[in-house]
Amino acid sequence: MSDLRPSYDVVIAGGGVVGSAIAFFLAGPCGLRGSVLVVERDPSYANCATSRSAGGIRQQFSTPENIAMSLFGAAFVKQADEHLAVDGETPRLPFVENGYLFLANFAGLPVLRANHAVQSAHGAENVLLDPAGLAARFPWLSVEGLAGGVYGLKNEGWTDPYGLLQAFRRKARSLGVTYATDRVVGLARSGARVTAARLEQAGAVGCGALIDAAGPFAAEIAAMAGFDLPVRPRKRFVYVFDCRTPPVAAPLTIDPSGVWFRPEGASFIGGVSPPSDQDPDCADFEIDYAPFDEIVWPALAQRVPTFAAIKLLRAWAGHYDYNTLDENAILGAHPDVTNFYFANGFSGHGLQQSPAAGRAVAELIVHGRFVTLDLSRFSYERIAAGRPLKELNIV
Ligand SMILES: Cc1cc2nc3c(=O)[nH]c(=O)nc-3n(C[C@H](O)[C@H](O)[C@H](O)COP(=O)(O)OP(=O)(O)OC[C@H]3O[C@@H](n4cnc5c(N)ncnc54)[C@H](O)[C@@H]3O)c2cc1C
Repeated sequence: MSDLRPSYDVVIAGGGVVGSAIAFFLAGPCGLRGSVLVVERDPSYANCATSRSAGGIRQQFSTPENIAMSLFGAAFVKQADEHLAVDGETPRLPFVENGYLFLANFAGLPVLRANHAVQSAHGAENVLLDPAGLAARFPWLSVEGLAGGVYGLKNEGWTDPYGLLQAFRRKARSLGVTYATDRVVGLARSGARVTAARLEQAGAVGCGALIDAAGPFAAEIAAMAGFDLPVRPRKRFVYVFDCRTPPVAAPLTIDPSGVWFRPEGASFIGGVSPPSDQDPDCADFEIDYAPFDEIVWPALAQRVPTFAAIKLLRAWAGHYDYNTLDENAILGAHPDVTNFYFANGFSGHGLQQSPAAGRAVAELIVHGRFVTLDLSRFSYERIAAGRPLKELNIV
């Protein structure tokens, strides 16, 4: 028998880093006077996007809102011990502040420069380097074919994704949020409101507001309310490798080919996103090693000569919560069914945006508006109108 209440003020479908961040901000900083239920089908989190993320945090975006969200994300992770301690126990999240290094060839230089200008204007502390500047700062890098690069001096690097998710969850529970291990299988609507979530085990649970935080599978929840959401699971591989003479203090480096790498302890991780015409919806976890041999390794060896001698250790697959319209987040209420909230479509940058997205959605529910950061351009209206707000810097 279920020990859930018959209804909750807020029901969150999905308890990954985004759903748990929303739960934390609702019950904590935003001070919701009401009950919150998070429904999570797999509390091991083995396969969710969060657990399979690379944990990167950067301000090198082309969309000002993304820069602001990630600045908040970086600050939040750095102060996680203050925000997320439970009974004096702190999460001790790492923040490896090695920066990001976006490299450009001559064709890509104008976009790199334009993005750098937007980033600087919105508070990112990074520097545009010419090939000589790159070679001086990163002696292990081959600058052949490069026209420049932007390097993040502050607030860029990576953290522990699973650790951040667990810290949000633990703190949310300590603030009174209920987590149920169950699956949302349907939603009930009455006119312009969602009135209940139907759970596979527990049956119907009434809700004052319903938040879709189902990551790569958010479109399934949206469809239960009758909405079309252009968010799809898109598979990405992360390859883990060792190098005998590793580049020292390497940033998360993105080659003009799109191939990226960063240190992971004493090893390295890296990968590449496929071209859009070879990127089908895909929910399996099967690993393909061909992209490593054919694309990733050759590009790595060309950009970092010591990577000519590396040893592939293993790989994992995970799914981007990919917004096929414009690769940007979708945040806030549905324009007609105003108690249904989206927190979806982060397209490979949702880990770093989870603190800002959690705060934003909680503000909408508690205050009826964005309070700290105006994210109205990320609303569902642009989706309904087919009006993309394109993010250019997708890794
Ligand atoms: C390989 C890879 C690398 C990445 N690298 C980065 C990076 O460097 N930086 C960055 O910021 N982001 C990165 N991301 C993206 C980031 O991981 C995601 O955007 C983010 O984790 C999304 O969080 P989420 O909580 O929305 O989704 P998830 O973590 O997937 O959580 C959604 C949860 O919803 C649950 N759920 C789904 N359907 C239902 C249902 N019907 N009922 C109940 N529960 C349900 C799932 O079980 C899941 O636990 C990466 C992603 C991948 C795959």
